[in-house]
Amino acid sequence: MEKMEMLYEGKAKKVFKTDDKDVYHIVYKDDATAFNGVKKGTISDKGAVNNQMSAILFEMLEEKGVPTHFVKLLNEREMLVKAVEILPLEVIVRNIAAGSLAKRLGLEEGVVMEETVLEFCYKNDDLGDPMINDYHIAAIKLATKEQVEVVKKYAFMINEVLVDFFKERKIKLVDFKIEFGVYEGKVILADEISPDTCRLWDAESNKKLDKDRFRRDLGDVEDAYQEVLKRLK
Ligand code: UDP
Repeated sequence: MEKMEMLYEGKAKKVFKTDDKDVYHIVYKDDATAFNGVKKGTISDKGAVNNQMSAILFEMLEEKGVPTHFVKLLNEREMLVKAVEILPLEVIVRNIAAGSLAKRLGLEEGVVMEETVLEFCYKNDDLGDPMINDYHIAAIKLATKEQVEVVKKYAFMINEVLVDFFKERKIKLVDFKIEFGVYEGKVILADEISPDTCRLWDAESNKKLDKDRFRRDLGDVEDAYQEVLKRLK
């Protein structure tokens, strides 16, 4: 399949058209941003880790019955995906308190949630991705009620599958953010699942193996990303 003009350049990925209108070509970058773009940097070979990790997880989730945009891994940094219309929602699933949830609810990081927490944010950089609920989503027509129900169902399914998968690799899945798109009228998982979008702690030491090492200047950022990919392979 031929790579054609660039459609969009995001913070972590470039999206190109291909000669098939239903397929996009994604190139993962090493650029890292945090705090809504205020902190900028690069994480060497992050693009390669995020691309390959996403491919592994998308394939596994497909097998478990979650439809995804993944089509094919091309090389270390590039994949083909279905050309979806992204729903402007960040879907966050939390198993353990961390980050903004710990702050908002006055919980210590590491407190296990008695029940899985699902949150929505409105994907809008100018507004700083504000947290919203089902009513806001319906009121400003970000998605239909039927789409929201499907998103919720898949989000919990994905969490169950990923928690077990990471557990086998001695990693705690603390929380993660996913995005969905619409393809041929159906809601499917899109974007990426990587140390940029998940909080992953070593099961024994609780060492952070994710983007918090970059956000909080904890050092060893590259090594942590490589370690996660190594454990998945
Ligand atoms: N997250 C993300 N992109 C965002 C915001 C959050 O991938 O724009 C992920 C983040 O890595 C974490 C989870 O979503 O795994 C929950 O993040 P939180 O709301 O605690 O925000 P943060 O503390 O990362 O600002």
